[in-house]
This record gives sequence, C-alpha cells and structure tokens, in this order.
Amino acid sequence: MSEFVNRPSRSPLASALADRTVAAAPELVERLPDGRLRCLSCGHRCPLPEGREGVCRVRFREAGELRVPWGYVGALQCDPIEKKPFFHALPGSDALSFGMLGCDLHCAYCQNWFTSQSIRDPEAVGRPQDLDAAAIADLAAEAGAPTVVSTYNEPLITSEWAVAVFREARRRGLYTAYVSNGNGTPQVLDYIRPWVDFYKVDLKSMDDKHYRQLGGVLGNVLETIAGIHQRGIWLEVLTLVIPEFNDSDDELRRTAAFVASVSRDIPWHVTAFHPDYKMNDRGATPVATLLRAAQIGAAEGLRYVYAGNLPGRVGPWENTRCPRCAATLIERSGFRIVRNRLRGGACPDCATPIPGRWDARVEGTTRTHGIPLPVWSV
Ligand code: SF4
Repeated sequence: MSEFVNRPSRSPLASALADRTVAAAPELVERLPDGRLRCLSCGHRCPLPEGREGVCRVRFREAGELRVPWGYVGALQCDPIEKKPFFHALPGSDALSFGMLGCDLHCAYCQNWFTSQSIRDPEAVGRPQDLDAAAIADLAAEAGAPTVVSTYNEPLITSEWAVAVFREARRRGLYTAYVSNGNGTPQVLDYIRPWVDFYKVDLKSMDDKHYRQLGGVLGNVLETIAGIHQRGIWLEVLTLVIPEFNDSDDELRRTAAFVASVSRDIPWHVTAFHPDYKMNDRGATPVATLLRAAQIGAAEGLRYVYAGNLPGRVGPWENTRCPRCAATLIERSGFRIVRNRLRGGACPDCATPIPGRWDARVEGTTRTHGIPLPVWSV
C-alpha cells in the first residue's frame, strides 16, 4: 500500500484507489531523458512528470515512482466462458471473472461503465473491495471454474495485479484470460505472455476517427491483435456491430479482412448492440445486419465466424462447424452448449483439427448454465 497521504486534489474514490497501489513492474516503465516516466502498460504510453496521473487515472507518478493498482476488485462473479466470449477455449466451463476500476478509453456505449468509468463519471457506482490474489484463485477453485479472467475494466492498465492473480491461478492448475480493448504495447504483451492463456480483443472499428472518439488509436489495436497471435496466446476477436457506427459493408469487410490477414483460424464474433450508457440515440442491431456481418466474415475467408447476443435468431452462426466437411461440431444456444462432438480437439467425422484450447477434463462442467451465478459482485 502507498505511504502517501497528501492528495488534496483527489476525489474520495481516487484517494481510495491511490491507497491501493504498488510500484509498477520495471518492464512497464521507461525513464525518459527529461526525467519523466513513460508508462508502457497501454497504447497511450503516457509520459508522466511528478504528481501526474495517466489517461486511465489509475496509474500515477508519486515520489519519483509509477504507482499502479493493487489488492482489490471492483467486480467479481462466475460466468460461462462463452459469455466472455471464448468459443474455442474449454467449451461449457465456467470462468471466474474479476475486474478492477478504470479504463484507458471512454466508449459511450460501454456495457461495463459502472466499473470502467467509475473515476470519470460520478454516476458509476463501482467501488474497490479489498481482496488478495490467492483468495480470488481460491474462489475459482471452489466454484469449479477452470479459468480466471481479468475483465469488467481494461485489464492492460492493471496488468501487475492480473499477473499476481494469474500466478496464484496457475499454482492451482487453472487457466487464465484477458478480455480487453487491445490498446496494448509490445512491452505489456511481453510482460503478460507467460501468464495469459486466452485473450479476447474488442476490435471496435476500422476507422481511426471512430477510435479517436472513443479515446484510442486504431493502429495500436491492430498491432496488439497481431502481437497476441505472434506470441502464441489463444486469441478471439469481437466486433460489436453498432448501427451507423461500424455496420457498413465496407467497414465490416475491412474488419474481417484484417483478422483474416493475421490468421483465418481466429474466431471472429459479431455481436448485437443494444442502447446502453450514453449511446441511446439509435436502436439495437437488427438480426439482418448481424447475419450480413457474419456472411461478410465468411466471405473474407474466416473459418470461424459467430453471431452473438441474439440467441436462437441467427441460424447456424452460433455453432462451430468443421471447415473441411461442414459437420456441426459444437452446437450452442446463447452461452449454453447444446452438444459438443469434438473429439480430442478434432472433427469426429473427418479428423480435421480445430484450432483452440481444448481440455476434456474440464469441458462441459458449467454450473451457471447460461445464467450468471454471482460468487460475489459489487
Ligand atoms: S495504462 Fe495507459 S493510460 Fe494509464 S498511465 Fe499507462 S499508458 Fe497512460
């Protein structure tokens, strides 16, 4: 915990978070020639003089060092891993999901704004609850959840804490995952690579102007997607299809083409938007739009395209099919596995291997059955 108490300009929440910090991992700090410290935990790469906080407002410089979040959660619950969503990792199992507070972006449609925007937005109710890393891993083991996931806020900006939790998870034989906006750096990917098994990136748009509106830079996200794949972490990409934001044929085609250029084996999830947080000026994504997006993904050569958030209304696009013989391998309805025919990670009919992370010891053990079962949430 920080020793520093003289923070007159901070809000009560910011002060509470500042009390829950440690020094940054040396791998995530660069000392600049002018004495500033550059944070390398996300693509903003904030150069911080003494007394300044980064864009995320949870990492800050004090008494000469970069202080970073530690020792609490902003939310914690057990979900089906399909809700993250991961469709090619331990299907039908639970994921103990934890988050901290804060984000490096400020998306108007954020569905986790109560944790991600808690420092920027007084309406956001997320508050820190002290918990140690071993206790989070113990909760996962007790809940029968084989995976521990950093989610609900942007995990990249709290990577030191995620790695601490994941070390404990690994000691208990558990898998680990990030659910992230992908605004990363090579340094943070190198830092987390030994500890992260599965990684989901939200690719929100292929238009840099749109990314700037959300507080990000498209190029950082594209480089991060490629970097995750190059480092051998299992990667799935999601695009929330938002009417009049990213739903044109051209943009969807460029999005799918980019993912396919990294690997045609990366699952691409196109999911339906509903009005949320500050984006209430348009309706939900129509089924026809989601089907069009899925068809574009397949036409661009992606082998595993999924349409989400509209269970039972998107035909076969919830299912995993064999790219060689077209047999249905995993049948889903929303977050629920209806049937899993994979055998040893391969098609039982033609033996084609299906890329992913498969472990028959833990698959099909979901206890939450498509309805989040709170272990503890705030
Ligand atoms: S995590 Fe990102 S936004 Fe936060 S201080 Fe570091 S570089 Fe800046």
